Parts: sequence; C-alpha cells; structure tokens
Amino acid sequence: SYRKGGYHAVRVGDSFSSGRYIAQRKLGWGEFSTVWLAYDTRSSGYVALKIQKSAPQFAQAALHEIVVLSAIADGDSSNSKYVVRLIDHFKHTGPNGQHLCMVLEFLGDSLLRLIKHNHYKGLELNKVREICKCVLTCLDYLHRGLGIIHTDLKLENILLLSTINATKDPVRSGTTPILEKPEGNPNGGVTMNIIEKKLKQRARRAAARISGRRSSMGGVGGTTKSNRSLDGIDLRCKVVDFGNACWADKQFAQEIQTRQYRSPEVILQSGYSFSSDMWSFACIVFELAIGEMMFTPKGGEGFSEDEDHLAMMMELLGKIPRKIAIGGARSKDYFDRHGDLKRIRRLKYGCLDKLLVDKHRFSEIDAHEFTEFLGPLLDFEPEKRPTAEQCLQHPWLNFKNLKQTEVKSESGVEKVNVGMSKLQISVGK
Ligand code: ADP
Ligand code: MG
Repeated sequence: SYRKGGYHAVRVGDSFSSGRYIAQRKLGWGEFSTVWLAYDTRSSGYVALKIQKSAPQFAQAALHEIVVLSAIADGDSSNSKYVVRLIDHFKHTGPNGQHLCMVLEFLGDSLLRLIKHNHYKGLELNKVREICKCVLTCLDYLHRGLGIIHTDLKLENILLLSTINATKDPVRSGTTPILEKPEGNPNGGVTMNIIEKKLKQRARRAAARISGRRSSMGGVGGTTKSNRSLDGIDLRCKVVDFGNACWADKQFAQEIQTRQYRSPEVILQSGYSFSSDMWSFACIVFELAIGEMMFTPKGGEGFSEDEDHLAMMMELLGKIPRKIAIGGARSKDYFDRHGDLKRIRRLKYGCLDKLLVDKHRFSEIDAHEFTEFLGPLLDFEPEKRPTAEQCLQHPWLNFKNLKQTEVKSESGVEKVNVGMSKLQISVGK
C-alpha cells in the first residue's frame, strides 16, 4: 500500500506542516490511513497525526471526516463531550501523492486492548459504568446536539485518555520528543541550535509532566498481568473514527456498522437512525462486562451470516415481532410471511438474565440490575430503545458495587459491605 495513491511512508523525525509537527512513532493504522504520534512544536505537546492515503476516494473520505470532526469541535468548546478533538488539518505532498492529514488530540489504547490486557475477562461493573457515562455523554451530544449518527461504534473505536494508557507506557515507548532538524529549513546554524535546545527543554518538561501524572494515577501498565492493575483508575475514554459518520437526514450507506455490532434494522434494511448507535452501544456494554462479544454470527450450510445473526438475536432476546421481521427491504430473503426464519427453524430460546447468572457467574441481583439497563436498548423496535439522554438518567449508572471491609465488633470480626451509594448498605457475617 506504500505506492502512488496509497500510504505516505514516514520516518521518525520527519516534519509536517512547515516543521510544526515532528513524527515520533507509529500509533496505529487503518484501511485509510496511518496514525503517528507527533510532537507539536507550537504547543509543546503530543498529538496524533492521521495521514490519509492519497488516492481521490481516500481524500474524499478524509474531507468528510474533517467536516464531521469540525462540527463536533465547534459545538464542544470546552472539550468535555468525550469525542476526539480535531486540532488542525493540512495537506502533505510526498512521493505517493498529496495526503490529507488530520491532527487529533493524542489518546491512549482502545477498549479492545484493555479487554485483551484483562485476558478477556469482563471488567468490574463499576468500571463499565464509568465507560458508559463517557460514551453516553458523547452519543447524547452527537445525536441530540448535532444530529450525527456514528454508525461504527465498537471497542476499537473507543480510546482511553492517553494519561491512563493501560498497556503502553508513553514515556518508555519513546515519547521524549525526537526533534530532527527539518531538511532545508532556512533557520540553519546557530539559530537552529538555540531553537532546538529550547524545544528539547520544553519537551523534556512535557514528558516529565506526563510521567508524573501517570504515576499518580497508580502506575498502570507495563508488564503487570493482574487485573487488579485497573484498581482505582478513573477510566475515561473518547469516541474516535468518524470516517463513516453521517447525519440522520443525510445518509450515505445502507449497510452500516461492523458485523457483530450491527442492528436488526440494518440487516433487514428497514432504515436506521440514532437508535442504531444505541444497539451497538448495548453490544459494547455487554462485551465490556463479559469479555466476549454478544453476537458472533457465522454463515453455515444452508444459511447466511445474516440469518445466523438474526437467529442469535432471537435466541437471546426473544422472537422478533412479525411486523418488524417482515417490514424491511430484505425481509423476504430471511423470513416467511408468518415472521419465522425460513432456513433456521429450531431456535434455542434463552434470556439475558439467565445467561449472565448461569454462564457468566453474575449474582442474581447484578444480573437483574444489569439486564434492566441493557434489555431496553436491545428492543427490536428501534423507536422503543431509550435514547442516550434517557440512559444517562438510568439508576444503574449510579449504583456502586459493594466493597467488603472487615470491621471489628463485639461479636468478633464482621464483613461489612460498604456501598458507596446511599442505596446499598448491608451488614453480614
Ligand atoms: P482509519 O480511518 O484508517 O481506520 P482510524 O481513525 O481508525 O483510521 O485510526 C487508526 C488507528 O490509529 C486506531 O485504531 C488507533 O489505534 C490509532 N489512533 C487513531 N486516532 C488516534 C488518537 N487520536 N490517538 C491515538 N491513537 C489513535
Ligand atoms: Mg478505523
């Protein structure tokens, strides 16, 4: 892909936008771009530099993402809505063509890496709640504030804030800035040396600030394997990747969302809206709490991936109401006129509560409360799903799971459940 129309090859120390940004190390890549950690010599801080492939269709996609991200930034002047911030954008010409570049705030690992780091065990429910609050705040802002549907919510597209990077140490992995002298820079010689020295000093201070914050956050990461390493950390995150986002009243694609997070109305092609993001959100919440995806459909002999997916949804959530099942442009491919799947006849019905208790060893009360929050988001009727705004009001988000502490009393040592919420304080031996 490093050819005409493709990626731009970057070397550590390369400079961009007339020397303002200096490449430090690669952060990641996608189908459309490579993303680099860069040092911003103007703000003396780190940024993520997304360098798009150069062919016209990629340039077009980048322009779209810039438009969406600009609208997002314009409406969120305090940068408090848990959406990645676009700082700057420019064009960069290289041997493979002209590349649109987006300068984004530097974020940390994705939630997918967090789950991997946690050995695919579910996160503590209190951590799940913290993540939910960030994502819901973002979705409420996108949906209600801007009329934007993300359309591709999944664990890879939610990144932790960089100071609480769970699996990498940004300092040790080379974030002491590398400030190569830009080639052909008019400020050569002595002036350059002084500028460089000053920049290096500022950069060292910035790096020290980052390392200070990290240790005060409890020193996450590195080689530690225990999931206790997540204790006491304020898990905050932001939503990224707006390459596929659209406006509710200006949609571009019929098939949206990554397979496992795809909503029934998208499979059936009965039209989608904000509520389709809410379905993906529910899939994410399940995955965070359980450590496994909610639905992993596969095609088989005599049935397609879509049909397997619909069957799995019904096995977990109950039968799709007939009027929904037969109401989409693709319904005839999957359902008969009674609303039964044509090619997968015998379904094994279960329910979310029971799955959580039997398979995932939730306590009955946790399972019940969790299902009360999650269940309504998985309504087959999109209009019935709660909005992000409504979810933010849900009591489950403000429960705290009990922590046990030992307390001495007249009758000996008692284990006391200290709930941090007013609602739950109980005593037992
Ligand atoms: P694409 O549109 O090519 O899929 P993405 O926006 O998904 O590109 O970014 C590709 C990868 O780069 C992400 O999966 C992530 O690992 C990394 N990345 C993207 N944005 C940031 C950011 N702001 N901070 C840190 N890493 C990022
Ligand atoms: Mg991507």
